[in-house]
Amino acid sequence: MKWSYRIITIFGIPLKMHITFPMLIIAYAALFGYQYGIWAALRGTVLISALFVFVVFHELAHSKQAQKYGVKVRDVTLLPIGGVSNMESMPSEPREELKVALAGPLTSLVLGFIVLGLNYLAGYRILDFSLEKIATSWDYIPVYLGWINIFLAFFNLLPAFPMDGGRVVRAYLAQRMNYARATRVAASIGKLFAVLFGIAGLLVNPFLIFIAFFVYLGASSEEQGAIVGEILRDMKVKNVMNTQCDTVPAETTLAQIVESIFHGSCGGAVPVTEYGTFIGVATRDDILSAIHEHGLEINLGRIVRRDTPFVNGDESLNEVYVKMQQNQRNAFAVVERGELVGIVTLEDLGRAYALKSAILSGKNTM
Ligand SMILES: [Zn+2]
Repeated sequence: MKWSYRIITIFGIPLKMHITFPMLIIAYAALFGYQYGIWAALRGTVLISALFVFVVFHELAHSKQAQKYGVKVRDVTLLPIGGVSNMESMPSEPREELKVALAGPLTSLVLGFIVLGLNYLAGYRILDFSLEKIATSWDYIPVYLGWINIFLAFFNLLPAFPMDGGRVVRAYLAQRMNYARATRVAASIGKLFAVLFGIAGLLVNPFLIFIAFFVYLGASSEEQGAIVGEILRDMKVKNVMNTQCDTVPAETTLAQIVESIFHGSCGGAVPVTEYGTFIGVATRDDILSAIHEHGLEINLGRIVRRDTPFVNGDESLNEVYVKMQQNQRNAFAVVERGELVGIVTLEDLGRAYALKSAILSGKNTM
């Protein structure tokens, strides 16, 4: 996520903080301080910081569970609206997604009961708290933190896809219908909840308006991803790959290639060879950013991606699309029996998607 900075690495997972996150703490402290004075400001800061320590536990539970299923976790990022586990993908096996989704709320629930239990044993009255009391005494903060964990567990279990409960719904539906359709149903429920959060935000707590946006955008993008996946699934790499690419020797300078890259027909990519052997692909974006950084006189051999991933011609475009997102690469080499037979790029997938969806919508209107 842009504008996020790493604070620490826990269990091999980088914990990042979005630049807007400290604003939440400052706002909270200022609100408390304004109403109840300087000590209250300090209490507000401690409360919100401690709350986010628990949010981190919640997110790490999701992440650790996902790692068990071989999902790569990029990081856990703290945003003003909560924590987000950035995973390369969700496990597509519904039962696995279900367990990943439940791990967070269950952890919050258990932590909540532990904290309240300790408070009870320490002699605190665990039913007696309010924001005003927290602002005026340290004693109530631990009790409040216990309850807020329990609240977090139940709030996240609302079926507001892509929140945890919504993922549970999708995983449940995906066992009964295909994945794309399950996603669309879950996303519709998610959007409905986003509207409800928005209304509740206007009436009760403005904070919910942010949650509403987050849920709505999240549901839309997951829905879009599912539709794209459904359309791309039926097409294969060999149907869209570029086979007429001219290979270019590594010693070619960017000045020599810059014109042909814009007129070339290789999906915006250049296959590069060294001593006659294919060594990787340079994309239009690679070339443009290299020109920006080093000028036109640098040669292709210096900027080519020598670890360009390979796919084979029979793979579905959906699989390739997922791999492109996972690898954050826009161009793959297509190899058959050890031989380079073509290049497939994100542009090719985009063109195939546009064509196929045009044909499908044409069919629907006839
Ligand atoms: Zn969660």
